[in-house]
Amino acid sequence: MERGLWPGRPVLLPDESLSSWFARLAAANGLQTAELHRILQPGGDRSPRDLDRHADFQILDRLSAKTSITADALEQATFRRWAGYVFERDDGLAKLDWLPPAGRDGATRCFGQQACPLCLAGDAQPYLRLRWRLLFVSVCPVHSCLLIDRCPRCNEPLAILRQQQRGGVNCWSCGFDLRQAETVQPPVNYLPYQNRLLTVLADGWADLGDHVGLYSFIYLKVLALVVRLLTGGPHAYALREQAELREPGLAVPPQSLPRGRDLAVMAPAARTVLVAMAMVLMRDWPNTLASAADAVGLASSHVRKRHGESLPFAFAQLVDWHLKKPFNAEGRIEVAGLKEMLERQGRKPTYREMVETVGTELAAMSDMAEPVANGAAWGQGRYWKLDGVSPEVKEAARLMAHRSGQSVGPWLDNLLRQHLNLPSGREKSSESPIS
Ligand SMILES: [Zn+2]
Ligand SMILES: [Zn+2]
Repeated sequence: MERGLWPGRPVLLPDESLSSWFARLAAANGLQTAELHRILQPGGDRSPRDLDRHADFQILDRLSAKTSITADALEQATFRRWAGYVFERDDGLAKLDWLPPAGRDGATRCFGQQACPLCLAGDAQPYLRLRWRLLFVSVCPVHSCLLIDRCPRCNEPLAILRQQQRGGVNCWSCGFDLRQAETVQPPVNYLPYQNRLLTVLADGWADLGDHVGLYSFIYLKVLALVVRLLTGGPHAYALREQAELREPGLAVPPQSLPRGRDLAVMAPAARTVLVAMAMVLMRDWPNTLASAADAVGLASSHVRKRHGESLPFAFAQLVDWHLKKPFNAEGRIEVAGLKEMLERQGRKPTYREMVETVGTELAAMSDMAEPVANGAAWGQGRYWKLDGVSPEVKEAARLMAHRSGQSVGPWLDNLLRQHLNLPSGREKSSESPIS
């Protein structure tokens, strides 16, 4: 098997990813993917790293020599196809906004590989498309269904390089044939948004307000930043409402779309909503987002605090020119004076007391304020207004909510409704949880 061409040499199928082709190459030579990987890289890891991202030129050259497929063609089946388009460059280490890892990264389960069960079922030889790795691609354009990003039977992430079966696309863990997976309709009409992003990607550039001809990877960077504001953090729910106001078709019950830490760990259904909402807020850049931010009290300091200094110019401009500033850049001297004044009046200088006295938020208030009770207030979001509740009740509520799979706000809302005999909230019976 070492000399000359290998006996099995499947051709690369349209848009096939390198890892998919690699798995088929192994099967065509009667091997498991791990075995082929060991032949290719003696002494390498037991389970191959994500070849779509990490196949280096040595691997590509060796594969090319054994299969007579050109190294260029193989390279086009990796993320390097998108260098300068989805990301500027890839050092192999930093997180790529739109191309998260697949399978496992150490102990972390990563859902960066998606698939359309109907496409697989229609394939003469089921294979994975490289495009299914893109985080903003969540719907199949052919079948209009949501892509799947985990095994419907055992919930493990898809990881073709770990699968044991030769041929086909199966769950690496329980062997489930992904062609059998049920398909689900997206919760919102996402395809127009996805098509727009794929056009930006194909063009390599996009306009964003006055920023004409931005590189697509900068446009996508800005999109990732706006998505992050909608995914988690204190303003997530309020900003989602702002997007719904402008595009009512995107309204989903808040309890079906909890706050998350990172878009990459959210299910495809949740991603369709969040990415579409972000694109709505990016219309007429930066005016829509600036007015939404204004309406929810998102100040420049909030964004700076979360994203630091490495903001693309178009986004930094929004932050610096259009978002409300705390009225003094530091504000600490003012806040110190305010605290003194309140204490002289016998009032406790809590965050709320300070905001009410001054009539606005100052960046320094949150870290200089005194805790309300004998525990620090841990959240100023509009869905968490339990100032004065004891720390142990807050902690218990947080645990209970997370155990029931909800954010604290919606969980508490439901609980209070039950307790007060109110009808349940904005729940729409036709919609099920989507994340
Ligand atoms: Zn499909
Ligand atoms: Zn499984």
